[in-house]
Amino acid sequence: MKIHEYQARDLLRSYSIPVPGGRAIASIEEAEGAFKDATAGMASPEAVVKAQVFAGGRGKAGFVKLVKTPGDAREAARFMFTNRMKSPQTPPEGLEVKKLLVATAAEIADRKEDSPRSGEAPKKEEFYLAITTDRKSRRNVLIASREGGVEIEEVAKRDPDAIVKVPIHPLIGLQAYQAREVAFKLGFKARQVDQAVEIMRNLARLYLEKDCSLAEINPLVLTPPSSTHPDGQVIALDAKFNFDDNALFRHKELTDLADHSEENPAEIRAAKFGLTYIALDGNIGCLVNGAGLAMATMDIIKHHGGEPANFLDVGGSATEEAVTEAFSIILADASVKGVLVNIFGGIMRCDVIAQGIINAATKHKNADGSIGFKVPLVVRLEGTNVEAGRQLLNEAKAKIPTMQAATDLTDAAKKVCAAVG
Ligand code: GDP
Ligand code: MG
Repeated sequence: MKIHEYQARDLLRSYSIPVPGGRAIASIEEAEGAFKDATAGMASPEAVVKAQVFAGGRGKAGFVKLVKTPGDAREAARFMFTNRMKSPQTPPEGLEVKKLLVATAAEIADRKEDSPRSGEAPKKEEFYLAITTDRKSRRNVLIASREGGVEIEEVAKRDPDAIVKVPIHPLIGLQAYQAREVAFKLGFKARQVDQAVEIMRNLARLYLEKDCSLAEINPLVLTPPSSTHPDGQVIALDAKFNFDDNALFRHKELTDLADHSEENPAEIRAAKFGLTYIALDGNIGCLVNGAGLAMATMDIIKHHGGEPANFLDVGGSATEEAVTEAFSIILADASVKGVLVNIFGGIMRCDVIAQGIINAATKHKNADGSIGFKVPLVVRLEGTNVEAGRQLLNEAKAKIPTMQAATDLTDAAKKVCAAVG
């Protein structure tokens, strides 16, 4: 599960990681008010307007804008709400923007290069900081770079040495000395070091306590010296979190933050019934039990020239109700021109599947109001209670005129590919 940046900022704040204030808005009309709130009391008001979508690369796409007046905030909001955000991290058609974050703009200190190049704008003090799980070392790792900001992907390719990786011990966590070493490598000095160390250790604690698979701050920035922070302040400007879905049951506070509007509605509907459903681009709907068999089914469909319309795993112990729902989800996809049922009944019983097919055939309402299956259906059943299942289907044949039985996987794939042409 992912959360939006404005929620991620709240989460950082709750772990004492400093983040500029701001709030999310859902309409152009709210932009001016949010700008005034974010810049209240500032000598020279400046805010940043940022699209809240589950993709990065917003800065380069024009969906992160610094603004100095309420009118400019409104104009930035108008642009972001009426254009789709396109970046290398979005689908080609881009993403619709439904929320914006309007936050106090942070001032970022200029980097004092060892050998500044003349004629170039000074680099800013932007850093990259993340924690993720490294499968190779079987440890959580802290990843940091002095070259943070919008170019981090290029830095990783061009200059991998500019990225520091530190393993985190599973029992004792990120140690202060490790964090200090990283802070020095990033170039922090004096009181900045303690601030950076605090942030790293708090992020490591957050990562564990919230069961993250990724906790990323990019950029982490250094502000210019001020009266309250004579060496400047280290703060987070953008954050991204991925949480382990298998641990969400113990984080109600996180599931409450979920935004389903960017997910496929059929996938959410399936999840409610304990079904794993992934929509794909083809025209053959698949109803299978077990992820391995589902993968094999997709492979063999492709081998015989077909294209699967979905991946649907009803699991090992689906009820008749869930199977009926599964059919209804597959048939609701207008691009489905044929359905292949491929069940190996181990724990799942073939008669339950058969009853699900019959229920769907007698209850499923098509878009034109008719009831039942309009598309060809190929059924391959094997395993527990297969005889009972076949008998149920035989008895119900009249209700499912488009149904054909298949003897094995190859036969099933050939039949369904032929049926959809
Ligand atoms: P991303 O492009 O989707 O990762 O969006 P970010 O939030 O990381 O913003 C992209 C870039 O915009 C950052 O690397 C900064 O250079 C700049 N930026 C974002 N917020 C601020 C801010 O509050 N003040 C200033 N000066 N620059 C900002
Ligand atoms: Mg960023």
